[in-house]
Amino acid sequence: MFIGRLISTSRATIRSIHISTKLNQAMGIDGNNILAESLKKQGIEYVFGIVGIPVIETSMAFQSVGIKYVGMRNEQAAAYAAQAIGYLTGKPGVCLAVSGPGLLHCIGGMANAQVNCWPLLVIAGSCPEDHEGIGGFQEWLQVESSRLYCKYAVRPPSPKLIPLHVERAVRSACAGRPGVAYLDMPATLLMGEVEEDKVPLDYYTAGPLTLAHPAPELVARAAELLSKAQRPLVVVGKGAAYARAEHAVRALVDSTGIPFLPTPMGKGVVPDESQYCVSTARTQALLQADVILLLGARLNWMLHFGQQPRFAPDVKVIQVDISPEEFHNSIKSEVAVHSDIKPFAEALAQKLASKKFSLQPNNSPWWQALKEKQKKNTEFVEAQANNKSQPLNYYAVFKAVQANIPKDSIIVSEGANTMDIGRGMLLNNQARHRLDAGTFGTMGVGPAFAVAAAMWCRDYAPNKRVVCVEGDSAFGFSGMEIETMFRYKLPVIIIIVNNNGIYSGFDKETMTDIQSSGEIAQCTPPTALTSEVRYEKMMEMFGSSGHLCRTVEEIESAIKAAIQVTDRPSIINILINPQANRKPQTFNWLTESKL
Ligand code: ADP
Ligand code: MG
Repeated sequence: MFIGRLISTSRATIRSIHISTKLNQAMGIDGNNILAESLKKQGIEYVFGIVGIPVIETSMAFQSVGIKYVGMRNEQAAAYAAQAIGYLTGKPGVCLAVSGPGLLHCIGGMANAQVNCWPLLVIAGSCPEDHEGIGGFQEWLQVESSRLYCKYAVRPPSPKLIPLHVERAVRSACAGRPGVAYLDMPATLLMGEVEEDKVPLDYYTAGPLTLAHPAPELVARAAELLSKAQRPLVVVGKGAAYARAEHAVRALVDSTGIPFLPTPMGKGVVPDESQYCVSTARTQALLQADVILLLGARLNWMLHFGQQPRFAPDVKVIQVDISPEEFHNSIKSEVAVHSDIKPFAEALAQKLASKKFSLQPNNSPWWQALKEKQKKNTEFVEAQANNKSQPLNYYAVFKAVQANIPKDSIIVSEGANTMDIGRGMLLNNQARHRLDAGTFGTMGVGPAFAVAAAMWCRDYAPNKRVVCVEGDSAFGFSGMEIETMFRYKLPVIIIIVNNNGIYSGFDKETMTDIQSSGEIAQCTPPTALTSEVRYEKMMEMFGSSGHLCRTVEEIESAIKAAIQVTDRPSIINILINPQANRKPQTFNWLTESKL
């Protein structure tokens, strides 16, 4: 009864707004509706946001034109979700925020999208123009604040110009190297009315761009270099995933038999389970390769800048990128090809197939050395993974997770050890099925990415699951998005690998001793979190229940139960050894100070 009343009340509110909207349309059309119609026209399908003054009517106008609106719990998470949709679909998701603090909370998300080269359109309300400069409510220099994080940032100067700026914002976000666009919408602009027939509502819609093709002489040089290489290697980045080049890159790898390494989000473009994947000998492959074909990946910190000591001093790089500004950024590339990955990979495979170029057979010394290393590393990991002593170590946990989740799941992952170790042990065999902290190393993206991925699955791959593997610290950043998942009935399987801290933590007893040893804020280790937090009990806030696991058997049955649940999220809280660590590394990671 009560719920029925609530639904009819909220329907009545939406209806009355739509009716008043219609009345407005009889006389004219306001900024909210021009914005909604323009976004619809540009093919925008999803908006993630938080409403308040002055964008409540805006969100309803979006819904009334058939755009899906997902209300999040923090604008930062809304910006993360919208950019994940951009990466998954190639069309930007929109993040809608209120003025001042609302827009400022989006900034971290905007930077993350820009650094990852993902398309995103942020739209924020701002204070009425006639309140500017006299202390307006939530008044802030929003266009200026956004500019550093954007390819395009404007305030449309009049309602009539909204369609033009929406088109340009969407096109800017997607064209060339993808990135962020921002549209500032003062309350006066949103409510401003103009005569409908004076608004170019069916303003130009950019069609799909013709893919940038490689210069044939550069393809020939790349083929020449690869065929002469003793130790060739292909590196597949998330640019290849975004380019939807999986078929072409797979065909290239399969037809040449060159070993390949995916970057963290390049996983799945060519299956992790391909016989040519050398992730388990990553360090050695990078260190010894003499020719590297770099497909949609930057030689930044994630690839150790392409420099010594992680790469051979005389390594020759063939760099393929949609953005020529990226060429020769950290080392001089031998061949730099300005091209979309797909036509390049197709042209190269064709060139290498001609008899002139003979590649190394898979019993070459290079392959033998890699296989030997793979065997050694796999043995180490297997030994760890088979050690089921309690409290569990990471490897045992991930072995159980990998064995029990559906193989075509979209895996979202964040945390420190959780993400790093999970990268090797949780496999992807499809492109764009891995979302993680990315180039910017941002914590807090996980639950928001999972919301977006689950929305996408519902619409385009209804049987696919989203598995969100979180460190306990990482989960804390955006954990309240669990309510969003409940509201929209998104069956995300959240797995928290809980070690009571950042990098590592302490067991209950040790933590109690440490905290009673002096002034609490001086003696509590900055890396520690409360021991054995029952995150799974967050499910009880919604009248449901979660899973607490300490053993491999408990993990197995929790995942099996979670897979059966299709109308709400699940939380599986796995208490592991707080001091568990990763396999000793040949090279220190980035800085020398990793704990
Ligand atoms: P990773 O993190 O996987 O190493 P990066 O984000 O560093 O990947 O690099 C991705 C690269 O891919 C960027 O330099 C970007 O310009 C490029 N890129 C994006 N889309 C395409 C495309 N369609 N074709 C070619 N390169 C692309
Ligand atoms: Mg932790």
